[in-house]
Amino acid sequence: AEAFNAAVVSGRPLNAFLVETPDHALAAADKADADRASGDLKPLSGVPLGIKDLFCTAGYATTAASGILDGFVPTYDSTITSKLFGAGAGMLGKLNLDQFAMGSSNETSAFGNVLSPWRRNDGGNAALAPGGSSGGSSAAVAARMAPGATGTDTGGSIRQPAAFTGISGIKPTYGRCSRYGVIAFASSLDQAGPMAQTVRDCAILLETMAGFDPKDSTSLDEAVPAWEKSLSPDLKGKRIGIPKEYRVDGMPAEIEALWQKGIDWARDAGAEIVEVSLPHTRHALPTYYIIAPAEASSNLARYDGVRYGLRDLPEGANLQDMYAATRAHGFGAEVKRRIMIGTYVLSAGFYDAYYTKAQRVRALIARDFEEAWGKCDLLLTPTAPSAAFALGEKSADPLAMYLNDVFTVPSSLAGLPAMSVPGGLDAQGLPLGLQIIGRPLDEQGVLDAGL
Ligand code: GLN
Repeated sequence: AEAFNAAVVSGRPLNAFLVETPDHALAAADKADADRASGDLKPLSGVPLGIKDLFCTAGYATTAASGILDGFVPTYDSTITSKLFGAGAGMLGKLNLDQFAMGSSNETSAFGNVLSPWRRNDGGNAALAPGGSSGGSSAAVAARMAPGATGTDTGGSIRQPAAFTGISGIKPTYGRCSRYGVIAFASSLDQAGPMAQTVRDCAILLETMAGFDPKDSTSLDEAVPAWEKSLSPDLKGKRIGIPKEYRVDGMPAEIEALWQKGIDWARDAGAEIVEVSLPHTRHALPTYYIIAPAEASSNLARYDGVRYGLRDLPEGANLQDMYAATRAHGFGAEVKRRIMIGTYVLSAGFYDAYYTKAQRVRALIARDFEEAWGKCDLLLTPTAPSAAFALGEKSADPLAMYLNDVFTVPSSLAGLPAMSVPGGLDAQGLPLGLQIIGRPLDEQGVLDAGL
């Protein structure tokens, strides 16, 4: 990667880490030495990971990159972090993100932007977004500060940052990874997954992260396959669908070219390419931006100044004043925007017109995919409609920011496994990502195609 700028790889200038926890990583390294000596190495013995700061970590501050969780130190670990640590991994630190995972550029964090380690090859030095919401994770892995990181994906937050930074990231089938102890954004969409340099590393991490958890009522009671051992780049006998509705108006030529390159790679690997139709695709963004804020407004009602973190109690204030002051000062602008949209679409007079309607359209979007599976085994699309944009370029225009999620939200609404893998560099030397979407529970097919 010629455009990779080693000058910024010292780490801190990227603002990827909110909290550094070298004690944790060192303890895991010591434990790995002891386990090696006793012939008891575990799958992730000593591997130092970055943990998105949306995962609760016992004894370590967890912020969701929001002021409202100021001072919150969880007393328990998320299921995922406890599984990773149980498998021998250590934690390098908690990674920056968009506040409550709401965003596509990491610019909604209360703790400042994350910088992508990439620069355009135009001689300028424009600071680029690492994608979002898992922007600390993508920047840390792309800059080789961590061999892997956890991410979460509600509408693209693993895949789009992976694409922007030239790494791999998989959002598994909804329910594969436990949501227990992962701070909730939109519960019917939230899924955790790994981000790493290679597809193989993602497979290794996902094997530890996935699995049934009785503490999450939407967890799937399914065995976790040996994905890594079964990895195969051979796509003979696989039909790869190209959804024609993803050829959106105004798609940049470089994204068209990327997609064609992906199609050629798949054909070379033995796949049969078929055109498929997902007719409700154009309704996915509006549907997502009703359902996700609706669920967020409900999930974020718990931050009341009583139970977690920040409490703003003005002189002589009553309980209502405290709620209002805490939420006014604790939440960032994007989070407030989502709470207002969500409260509106759930309100008595508008519930049917917006929320119920969106749920119906969500069912149609899911049905589109079910019909496509009659014609193909996997779908191949670009991950995002552009390469990384500059910091500040879209932050004043929420709609422009939301449009960047056009290719990732449909599979989120349908709960399908989907992955972004590097697809090469554009004319400006920036990475572009290809997305592979699979049938429910077919992470193997997705990983194989990504290989
Ligand atoms: N960019 C999308 C949003 O802002 C997706 C975020 C995510 O997947 N957490 O909602």
